[in-house]
Amino acid sequence: MTQTDSKFADSDQSSCNQPSASGVLQDVHISPLLMEDFLELARENTEKDLETCGVLGAFLEHGTYYVTTLIIPKQESTSSSCEALKEEEFFAIQNERSLFPVGWIHTHPSQSCFMSSIDLHTHFSYQAMVPEAFAIVMAPTDQSRSYGIFRLSDPGGMSVLKECEESGFHPHGEPADGSPIYEHCANVFTNTNLRFEIFDLR
Ligand SMILES: [Zn+2]
Ligand SMILES: [Zn+2]
Repeated sequence: MTQTDSKFADSDQSSCNQPSASGVLQDVHISPLLMEDFLELARENTEKDLETCGVLGAFLEHGTYYVTTLIIPKQESTSSSCEALKEEEFFAIQNERSLFPVGWIHTHPSQSCFMSSIDLHTHFSYQAMVPEAFAIVMAPTDQSRSYGIFRLSDPGGMSVLKECEESGFHPHGEPADGSPIYEHCANVFTNTNLRFEIFDLR
């Protein structure tokens, strides 16, 4: 198999910040093919300018998280949002396999590659459960960056989101410590040797 020519083969390290001083994060490995397969499964929505979202399950071995499961839940989406329905269905799959809910992935069919305020709130719940949790944004129409792997800065961004009670799209203030509210993950690596399963529950 030749998987090394994948367009996602380069890890996202070049523009990454180091994890914040709050603690050392465990490394996370994810297959670049998982991201490609997700884009393919999202294609029908993407062509209709509708977002698609999926959740990622990982197992922890020797201090490294390995993403082995992509679950695409039943969902409702618009061109700028996507909401998972029947969360109990994908929690059941993750629990059966003792997987950590280590992140999520969604498309921006026509928007650029960034984290919207709604994305930040969605992500806050993940990162509050698992400090390593990350959000992958796939933006096939963004000429400068077709995907990004993000997390809230900790403690800066986490405390802004913890205190924010707004919903819908809204601006967030800068964290008090001067850090950006979210950052590129420095601890997430692509690994072409990693096998994974996909559950499409739609
Ligand atoms: Zn988004
Ligand atoms: Zn907010």
